[in-house]
Amino acid sequence: MLTIGLIGGMSWESSAEYYRILNQGVRDRLGPTASASCLLWSFNFAEIEELQHRGDWGGLTARMVDAARRLEAAGAEMLLICTNTMHRMAPAIQAAVNVPLLHIADPTAGRVKAAGIRKDGLLGTAFTMEHEFYKGRLAKQHGLSVIVPTDEDRATVHRVIYEELVVGKVVAASRDAYRAIIARMVEAGAEAVILGCTELMLLLRPEDSPVPIFDTTAIHATVAVELALADTQPAS
Ligand code: GLU
Repeated sequence: MLTIGLIGGMSWESSAEYYRILNQGVRDRLGPTASASCLLWSFNFAEIEELQHRGDWGGLTARMVDAARRLEAAGAEMLLICTNTMHRMAPAIQAAVNVPLLHIADPTAGRVKAAGIRKDGLLGTAFTMEHEFYKGRLAKQHGLSVIVPTDEDRATVHRVIYEELVVGKVVAASRDAYRAIIARMVEAGAEAVILGCTELMLLLRPEDSPVPIFDTTAIHATVAVELALADTQPAS
């Protein structure tokens, strides 16, 4: 089994979910006492959030690269960034280490396409919904056409993530607001919705959407387990 290095704490609410899914996935494959071989570098999210909103992407890149190098030095054989937003610096992180980085958009796009879907809605932070690093990868590398919410709806989606979900608050009124936003994306042609923020699974369930939901947290962690166990057989 490969040792998985997690660049996390962004927020710890979702990193806890990654840890649970990785361990459950290994148990399902190898048996009840088996668990994931993994390392977690967990940031103080208050500092990360401040740099994001100040637009200090250089400072953020330096921190992500430092975490990746520490994980590699500690024995990680593959890396996950446990947030969609911070994939903005994925190329710099990959260039700084010799172990593979599993980009969250790639297995997600794989699942979307395997379901026969070509046009999907994207929910996430404003950085993820508006900047090219994520939408562009889905479109250019995977041939998906991506619909994002309107300006006003994007502001709501972003606010709920930073004011509620990353601080562990799940608010019914926000779920209703998201349901309405999803309905408007479906009206605009979305055949599925990508939960492109690793905390969104705390708020939304498949029944909150009239079209299939693709949860990046679950997909990223599940595919990481498949890769980590590719050469491992259950003990007989
Ligand atoms: N976890 C979130 C994401 O997947 C948002 C927190 C962050 O900005 O990293 O984008």
